Formats: sequence, C-alpha cells, structure tokens
Amino acid sequence: MTKVLVTGGCGFIGSNFIHYILDKYPNCNLVNLDLLTYAGNLENLKSIEDNPNYKFVKGDISNREFIFDLFEKEKFNIVINFAAESHVDRSVNDPSIFINTNVLGTQILLDASLKYNIDRYHQVSTDEVYGDLPLDRPDLFFTEETPLNPSSPYSASKACADLLVSSYNRTYGLNTTISRCSNNYGPYQFPEKLIPLMIYKALNNEQLPVYGNGKNVRDWLHVYDHCVAIDYIVHNGTSGEVYNIGGHNEKTNLEVVETILSTLDKNFDLISYVSDRPGHDLRYAIDPSKIEKDFNWIPKYNFNSGIKETINWYLDNTTWINNVLNK
Ligand code: NAD
Repeated sequence: MTKVLVTGGCGFIGSNFIHYILDKYPNCNLVNLDLLTYAGNLENLKSIEDNPNYKFVKGDISNREFIFDLFEKEKFNIVINFAAESHVDRSVNDPSIFINTNVLGTQILLDASLKYNIDRYHQVSTDEVYGDLPLDRPDLFFTEETPLNPSSPYSASKACADLLVSSYNRTYGLNTTISRCSNNYGPYQFPEKLIPLMIYKALNNEQLPVYGNGKNVRDWLHVYDHCVAIDYIVHNGTSGEVYNIGGHNEKTNLEVVETILSTLDKNFDLISYVSDRPGHDLRYAIDPSKIEKDFNWIPKYNFNSGIKETINWYLDNTTWINNVLNK
C-alpha cells in the first residue's frame, strides 16, 4: 500500500488535495503533517478525520529530529511538500520565518527523503519564482526554462527551495519533481488572500482595499485543477523535471474585485485604492503546454464558472470564515 506524507495539509491547497486524493485512491494511506500556524485549520478536514487511512500529526518541517523520527516510524513512499509560509505581505514585514520554513524545512524533508529512500519527493512551488512580466507584452509567458528572478522574500524563499530540490536530484539522485502553479482560488482559502478577503469584506459592506491602480495581472486556477495536476505529476512525472501549471485565466486585480462585487450585487463604491505593495509584481502568466502535452491535463474550470462556485461556497460557509478569523 502506498504511504504518502502530505505536509501543510491543513492549509488551503493541502486540505483540498487530501480530500481529492482520499476520494480518488481510497486505499492510499496518508499522513498529514502540519504545524497549525494561523493558516492551518483542522476544520478543513473534519469530514475525513475518522477515515482509517488518514492520520494527522502536528509538527514542524524545520525540526530535524522530529522529521527523522516520523520518517523512521512511518516508512513513507511519497512525500508531497505543501507546507510553507505563503503570504507575500507577511514576508515583506518579516522574512525570517519564510527562510526557516520554506528553505530550511524543505532541506530537512529532502535529507529525510534521501535517508529513508523515498520513491518520489514532490515540491509544490509557485510561478512567483519567475518574477514578473511587463504589462505591455501579453505575448510573453513563463515557461519551465524562464530564469528564476523572484521579487519578494516569499518568492525568493520558494525559489531557494526549488534550487535545493533540483540539487538533491542532481547530486544525490533523489527522485524529485517540482510544480510551479499560478494563483489558486476555491474553498478553504484563508481570508487574507485576495479572493476570500474581498468576498468577506463585500459581505460585511466594508471597504475593499485594492493595491495601486488595480491593474496588476494574475493567472487564476481553481484549486481542484491544481490538485489534479499534482496527482498526474507525482504519479507520472519524470524525475528531475519542473512542470508549470496554469489556466490561461489572466485577470487584473480590479477585474477580480469587480466580478466579486457584481456577483454579490454590491456597489463598486466599496472599492478603496491603497498604496501599492513594495516590489509588487506586475503580471504573472503561465505557459502550461508541457503538462498539457505530457499528461493531457486540461483545467475543468474557467474563471467565470469557478469564481461563481467559489463565492457560493463562502456564502454557504460564513461560520468557517468567522471561525478561522477568530482562531
Ligand atoms: P497556506 O498558507 O494556506 O497553508 C500552508 C500550510 O502549511 C498551513 O496549514 C500551515 O499550518 C502549514 N505550515 C506552515 N509552516 C509549517 C511548518 N514549519 N511545518 C509544518 N507545517 C507548516 O498555503 P497554500 O495557499 O495552501 O499553499 C500551499 C503551497 O502551495 C505553498 O507551498 C505555496 O507556496 C504553494 N502555492 C500556493 C499558491 C496559492 O495561490 N495559494 C499558488 C502556487 C503555489
């Protein structure tokens, strides 16, 4: 039986991934290791907590002794690392914890994976490691060959982790893959990120803060499509390879906010322009042709259908939002 370690499984993407995997592979044995920082929420996994093939372990990926003990005890075949400090604004205010978790934590997981002969180590990374693209060059996209050029302490820590993963593949022959995905949206996202934050504020008739002129462009992918892509890569990806994941759903931040306001039947007067984020990336856009070609991966959602479903999820789960914010 395959034994999988998912780290950061109580966060947004990790918890969606665990639901997806346990649905798809009922015989898979899965351990979720999470430190339960402000972003981790056991409530996301309440419906599966009694599943005999699922186990939650609280712990820190940057605690070497703890990680080695866990690997010794559990005998994993596959490691999928979602655990990270993930919010750019927080990294601007205090980069140090980003280095500790995202860089040192990754290195410790790699060391343990090597020692315990893991079959596949997968690193969940981000398109932000490529830096940004100019707004006036819509013909440009990030490919897997685009040089790493991160802008924020967050993306720098993720780029550093990616380089460590590649080096363990090349130097020690560890079987690794890396995925770099665009911005995700969907259920269970902590309401500090753009989409759930704006939904929450709009529902409460609060001002919706938009950085700068709102023209920065992001490529949005529904979290379900990200989970499907990671599953393909973990099972069929070639060791040592990087795979970009994106949905060709480029939107300015202002377009996203206006879509949320119109869907909720709220007035655009709620929009409030605030000083821009330092070093704010202009445009992210992924070329996903490698994963489309290698695995016939096609996103199920387009932005219009996905955002409506997501807004409805937050409308149906206001208790979840309030519990997360009051934690
Ligand atoms: P998140 O912040 O919602 O969740 C992160 C999880 O990691 C939380 O449950 C937290 O408790 C846990 N964690 C943090 N530090 C830990 C530590 N030291 N040890 C163990 N657990 C720890 O993040 P997310 O949005 O779900 O992102 C998951 C991964 O996907 C991250 O690596 C992120 O860089 C990457 N990613 C995110 C997006 C996006 O749009 N959200 C896009 C591309 C890639």
